[in-house]
Amino acid sequence: MLLKDKVVLITGGASGIGAAVTRRFIQEGAKVSIIGRSLETLEQMKEEFNDNLLIIQGDVSKYEDNERAVKATVEQFGKLDVFIANAGVFDGFAKFADVTPDALSDAYDYLLNINVKGSFFGAKAALEELQKTNGNIIFTVSGASFYPDGGGVWYTASKHAQIGLMRQLAFELAPTIRVNAVAPGGTLTALTVIPPLRTFTKSVDNDTKASNIKRRNPLQLAQMPEDHVAAYVLLASDQSRAITGEVISSDGGLSVRGL
Ligand code: NAD
Repeated sequence: MLLKDKVVLITGGASGIGAAVTRRFIQEGAKVSIIGRSLETLEQMKEEFNDNLLIIQGDVSKYEDNERAVKATVEQFGKLDVFIANAGVFDGFAKFADVTPDALSDAYDYLLNINVKGSFFGAKAALEELQKTNGNIIFTVSGASFYPDGGGVWYTASKHAQIGLMRQLAFELAPTIRVNAVAPGGTLTALTVIPPLRTFTKSVDNDTKASNIKRRNPLQLAQMPEDHVAAYVLLASDQSRAITGEVISSDGGLSVRGL
């Protein structure tokens, strides 16, 4: 039980990688709060985990929703040890050259508000409580934080920006709070393409997606959300008390060859 008595807030915790992390953290002894947008999905998670889980419907791109989630977590579980900025959306590999200036602008606002501003806001809202517990922050970044062709320009820029946020916060918040990231490679989830770019992208079925992901990484893995959870457990736990400002890549070896 590496996370016994830890209290953790995870954004986007009701599906994909966030749901797998939630499930494993509860197995490791944590109490978990999750922020999500779909009440239906949140309620399904609540049925599975009962008293070990608090669900909060909200939008990470709104500061007040992050603040409300931190407050509710502390009211319910008494403290906050770990904040995980995981909520994210995708640009579907839309090509810069194809997109009109209006769609470019709408996509910029939509995607960066969630992937980047949501990460800023969540970290800020959690800060005071994490200072009380000598806690830690984990960002879900991506292979697209380091290499081209993990998405289009919007997604790639957003995932690079999260690395800057993570490294600067690790510097500013030491020695009280550790700040790290997990960088999954392509993973079979329902990661959503944002509305302003849907007309500029092709939808891909799951089998094609799996074979595309396999082809790109040296270990030839079509990764599942569960493949990444051990990295989060390590960074969230006291086992990593000497680790800050780091990224654990969980990507089938992209650094061996790039995307
Ligand atoms: P997912 O769609 O299952 O999870 C994303 C979650 O974020 C969803 O639950 C969604 O409801 C939530 N969300 C989106 N916008 C939100 C908002 N404004 N407010 C609150 N919640 C919001 O997809 P996933 O693949 O599990 O994505 C999780 C993270 O992993 C994202 O940051 C994504 O960029 C990253 N990632 C995914 C992959 C991949 O190939 N799937 C690879 C690398 C990194």
